[in-house]
Amino acid sequence: SAGLELRDVVKHYRAGTELVRAVDGVSLALAPGEVVALYGPSGAGKTTLLQLAAGLLAPDAGEVLFDGRPVPTSGERHDRLRHEVSVILQATHLAPRESALDNASVRLLATGRSFREARRLARPWLERVGLEERADQPAGQLSMGERQRVAIARALASDPRLLLADEPTAALDSARSREILQLLVDVGHHHRIPVLLVTHDPAAVDVVDRAHTLRDGSLLDGVDAT
Ligand code: ADP
Ligand code: ADP
Repeated sequence: SAGLELRDVVKHYRAGTELVRAVDGVSLALAPGEVVALYGPSGAGKTTLLQLAAGLLAPDAGEVLFDGRPVPTSGERHDRLRHEVSVILQATHLAPRESALDNASVRLLATGRSFREARRLARPWLERVGLEERADQPAGQLSMGERQRVAIARALASDPRLLLADEPTAALDSARSREILQLLVDVGHHHRIPVLLVTHDPAAVDVVDRAHTLRDGSLLDGVDAT
């Protein structure tokens, strides 16, 4: 089926003699254009789940499928999928000496576009995250919130077929946070791509299509505040 599908996915970590059940049998499907928020306390397995969905980690059991095909994991990640899956990670890596615009252009360059063309396509995304006036500034001189928004522009500029974001609004104030959440939702809906957002923001539940809570590696429906 089309979209992202996790089937009975399990991921354990070995910590010394202990086995941590980070993701403990999760099944989850996101149709094209469906935007899902994932809540849960620290240590619940949210980041692990996102990395599994991205193919950055291989599951110990179960399957991760995109458009019905297994998502290749790190070692074997095909170029095609690397360009089609956009991941906004928490520890955003930007090149500090490069401008905000060049950082936002990087994924487009990787698909073979010229500098000029990559910048032309990335600029409107920088505007949509409210950074048009920062375009020429080195990323290292931006605030954390601005860096996070550059990473979001970079992810969206490459026209991904799947968008995965780990607390994309964590460094933003609540007004800006709402704007960015709405942008991610709009992109999911208009471009018909599945969007999975890990978040702590209680406002997210009002704009997404569906919310789940991960607790001790297990998925629950809705937002569970307990
Ligand atoms: P969350 O994103 O919800 O905070 P994580 O996916 O980061 O949760 O972590 C889930 C569990 O797995 C936690 O108990 C965490 O300590 C453990 N864990 C995460 N990464 C590793 C790792 N590389 N090695 C060992 N344990 C890990
Ligand atoms: P945000 O709301 O995006 O987190 P801040 O209030 O942290 O923004 O920063 C306000 C302004 O100060 C930003 O426009 C940014 O350019 C500048 N600034 C913040 N931190 C730094 C820094 N470490 N170095 C240079 N400029 C900074």
